[in-house]
Formats: sequence, C-alpha cells, structure tokens
Amino acid sequence: MFYKTSKVLSLKMMLWTLVVLVSAGFGLAGVAESCVKTREYGYWTEVGALAAGQALSMIRKKGVAVKADDCIALSSAGYAEIKDRDTAGALDGLARILGVKRGNHSLIEVHSAPDTALWFAVYHLKSGYGTYLQINPDAVGSGGTLYRLDKKNLFSSKAVEKINAEHLFANASEFAGKFNAKIFGGNEFRIVTIANAVAAGAPSCAVRAFEFHDHYCPGVTSGILMALYIKHYFPKEPAGSYFVQSVQPWCKEDALMVILNTTPGKSGYHVSYPTADDMASWSDTVKNASTIVYRKDPVSGLWDGVVLGYQGGTTGCPSYGHSVMDKLCADLWYLKHLDHPEEFVTVLHEFELPKGVTPQSYGRPGVDPMVRLGLVK
Ligand SMILES: [Zn+2]
Repeated sequence: MFYKTSKVLSLKMMLWTLVVLVSAGFGLAGVAESCVKTREYGYWTEVGALAAGQALSMIRKKGVAVKADDCIALSSAGYAEIKDRDTAGALDGLARILGVKRGNHSLIEVHSAPDTALWFAVYHLKSGYGTYLQINPDAVGSGGTLYRLDKKNLFSSKAVEKINAEHLFANASEFAGKFNAKIFGGNEFRIVTIANAVAAGAPSCAVRAFEFHDHYCPGVTSGILMALYIKHYFPKEPAGSYFVQSVQPWCKEDALMVILNTTPGKSGYHVSYPTADDMASWSDTVKNASTIVYRKDPVSGLWDGVVLGYQGGTTGCPSYGHSVMDKLCADLWYLKHLDHPEEFVTVLHEFELPKGVTPQSYGRPGVDPMVRLGLVK
C-alpha cells in the first residue's frame, strides 16, 4: 500500500516537476528574448545597417560591382559609447546587410575606449576600396528622442579610398598626404593594416591579437611570434600553467595575453618597466632579454622557465615616406613568416625555481626578477 501510494505520489511529483520545468523554460526564453531585442538594440542595428548600406553605395559610385559578401567590416561598435549608450547592436546591423561573420574574420571588432568615436569601415576585397563612416554624436538622440533615427545627420565624416597594399605602395606620396590629413578620422593606421592583413589571410591568433591591440603593427607581431614560439618550443601540460613576466614591455604584451590567456587579472602576467641603468646591469648573455616565461608542472608543482629575446627580421621593405605604409609592408612580410617563430625568438637562459617558490613572488613590489635569477653583472 505504502509502495503504491508513494509510486502514485512520485508520478504526480514527476508530472508537476515537468510542468514547472517546461513553464520555467518558456519563461526563461521570454526573458532572454526581451533582454536581447530591446529598442536600444533595434536602434543601433539600424545605425549599423545604414552605415553598411552607405558604404556599399559609396563603393558602387566608383564603378565597382559590389556583392555584400565580398566585404570585411571593421568597427569600434560595442566599445565606443555615445551619450553612455551601448552601441554593440550596430555590429549586427553590419552583419545583416554585408553578411560579415566572426568565424571567417570578415567582422572585426576593434578595441576602443568608451569615449572614442563610433566608426565603421568597410573594405571590398576584390576592388581594394575602403570606406570610412563616423557617427555624428549630435545626431544620436537622448531623453525624449532616444530612438529617433536622424538619418540625414547621422554621419559626420565619410570617405572612400582605394587602400589595398599594392595601390598604396604604388602611390605612396599621394597617400602620405592623405593619411596626414586623417582621411579616416585618425583611424587610418588601424583600418589599413587590419583590412590588408585579413585580406592576406591572417590566422585567428593574429586577428585576436590585433583586435585587442587595436591596430596591427610589427610590435604586436613580435608578441604573436613569441606566443607561437612558446606553444611549440616551451609547451605546457594541459593541466599546467604559464606565468609571463615582461622585463621590456612593448606592443607584444597584448598578443601574449590574448593568445596564451595569461592575464594579470588571473595572476598570469606581470610587467616591469626597467630604466636604462637597470638594463645596463643585465649580464651579457641576457642583455637583450624581453620576456621571462615560467611553466608549472601539474604533477610536481615545480616551475621552470626561459628568458626570451626577440630579434626582428630583415623585411626588405623600402621607405614609403609614411609609417602607415612602412608598417603595412613589414606586417605583410611577417605574416608569411609566422610558421617560423624560431627565426626571431631565442632562449637566452633556462632555469628552475626552488621548490615552493612561485613566479608571482618574482613580481612583488621592489623585487627585480633579473636580480633574483642571478642575471645581473
Ligand atoms: Zn602596436
């Protein structure tokens, strides 16, 4: 009897639980939908779609037949804010019109500070034309006009130029003047280098690095090469961990953090800014030290490490009379050499930390890791 009653009860409970779960499921779906499809999101998707449509018509006016899926879009949307408004929806507006996607790197999100301009660049792969459109903050409503789209005044600046590398190098002096005149609102360097690198087939690790770094320069390339070197020549066990300590910081840090996921917030990164005197005190064998990489063995708990140096390659690039083109030429050369990080990265010193000592203790205030490792004269 008891068995029967409890069986009936448990059946009732199961049914009841099912009803609760199903209704909760619908409830959650309803909440998720209302979170995503807000009027704010709708407003910014329209802004992105308008920018994409304008970009296509600007390129078509150059006599080029443009298909939407021949384009790469770059934007500061989602980082840049206007009147404290969240602009991320603009990315989906770009995607809707241009068919751009994250997985094939045709939609590039360029890291920006919240108070910088909201801009869109569309690069047409086949013709090499690139457009630039920047949002006029005065046309973006607040208060009672929050969702009114002021299409007429939306863009404060617009430009279209042929920016493929070949064309730039062949017309270097003309473009030196145009870049000095900030034809792309001061974003010339980031747009030109990133668009051409993606067109040249930059791998995902490079894309992640230059998106975070907000431009593609030979400096961030050195970090990409160093991360690739570490992956191949100083690999860790899956359950192990890295700690990266930069003793000569430059653009490379942003690539190392993004590719290895070693961030200060997760106790995986430390940077010190040595003086010229500090560096002059380093032993001859490590006088070009730039980064110390520590690796933890998950079984023994012991850390070993390498002191790495970096030497740039001979790119053979001529001087084009402007840093945008000079750096673009070097970037494209390095892209072809990412398979050989050992040509640029060298191990200057190898070591093991004493049992119980962590690399974080070499990053404490007042502690010089080069002194601790016995690498000073
Ligand atoms: Zn840089």
